Amino acid sequence: MLGPERQTQLEEISRQDHQAKLAKRDEELAYYPQKMAELDLKPIDRFRLYHPDPSRLMELGVTFAHRDLESVVGAMANGEPWAVVSGLNPSGPLHFGHKQVFDELLWMQRQGADVYIPITNDESYLVGKASSLGEARRTAYESVIPSIIAMGFSPDKTHIFVDSDYPDLYNAAMDIAKHTSLNKIFGVFGFGKDEEGENSGTVFYRGAVQLAQILLPQYEELGGPKPTVIPVGVDQYPYILLARDAARKKGFTPPAATFTKFGAGLDGKGKMSASRPEGAVFLTDDPKTAKKKIMSAYTGGSVLGSFQREHGGVPEICPIYQLRTYHFDNSRLAEQCSSGEILCGECKAQAVDEVLVYLADHQGKLPEAKARTPEFIFDTPIRSPLKVK
Ligand code: SF4
Repeated sequence: MLGPERQTQLEEISRQDHQAKLAKRDEELAYYPQKMAELDLKPIDRFRLYHPDPSRLMELGVTFAHRDLESVVGAMANGEPWAVVSGLNPSGPLHFGHKQVFDELLWMQRQGADVYIPITNDESYLVGKASSLGEARRTAYESVIPSIIAMGFSPDKTHIFVDSDYPDLYNAAMDIAKHTSLNKIFGVFGFGKDEEGENSGTVFYRGAVQLAQILLPQYEELGGPKPTVIPVGVDQYPYILLARDAARKKGFTPPAATFTKFGAGLDGKGKMSASRPEGAVFLTDDPKTAKKKIMSAYTGGSVLGSFQREHGGVPEICPIYQLRTYHFDNSRLAEQCSSGEILCGECKAQAVDEVLVYLADHQGKLPEAKARTPEFIFDTPIRSPLKVK
């Protein structure tokens, strides 16, 4: 039982904390509309309304905008070939932030997309996230690729490759680099300050290899040119613009993009990232570790339960809310939270139950998924102007 003085003190702390969280929510809610206006992106609403089975992330407004999705919609509706490309850095095991992206790719595959997944061990090495290409390559085959396969992708329509094992990617990069000016690359990425992790390799990687990954499905040998979509965050828009520019110069179909809000880390300090492991639930975490991370997460709730019952929580800024709705079916949670019907302790305990069931299922599938790796590895050669005939 708290004394009256301590009770008043905690009520005041809760009130100030709640006000700060509401302000943070308002700031975040204003951010994406501002970005859409600034970058001239279209909202995803019309697509979502007309599609008979939109993705969970579209329904939640997490995938919220697009650029030129019309180019893909026709192919989607008519059963014609189209592709989606989404790469990732193999600097460690996958976490729920990655799962969010792969869930969207799985949805696209169900709509008919060929899914290309470049595993960028070259990038991991160049930016210093791995001590060698080999180390990142090992992580890719030992951990990342089995986890992707275990999520349920179809081998017929999934093309995974580790960059350094797919040399034709670099041939395509040379081909595309010829059509991308140094000025443009420097303008977009701001190279030239010789900062840590910046080297001539990162210039070639971002200015050519990354564009080659995006434009790979455009090559004739891979059934291109064809509509392609790239799911990204708004900060990655410059890559899309560069790729669209290079595509036009090559006579390819300029890639479309969908824009997604990335799930927050459990520490409340930005998006979920392996660089802050305490804020990320990894798909390889044991139950005790996952539970500990979830139970100590930052939330949109209050210090004082009675205050939260009266004023409600702020689900829009709560990582637990995102974890529970992006990955699990909890359509009433926003209402339950903001009305004060549920408090954070109970909500976190439910999150633990949901996550542990998922992790047990996922981890149980990994040995078989690993054994199936060859079915998913992409080794189709593409023509390169640099190949000696
Ligand atoms: S009740 Fe749940 S969703 Fe609401 S703030 Fe607490 S943890 Fe977040």
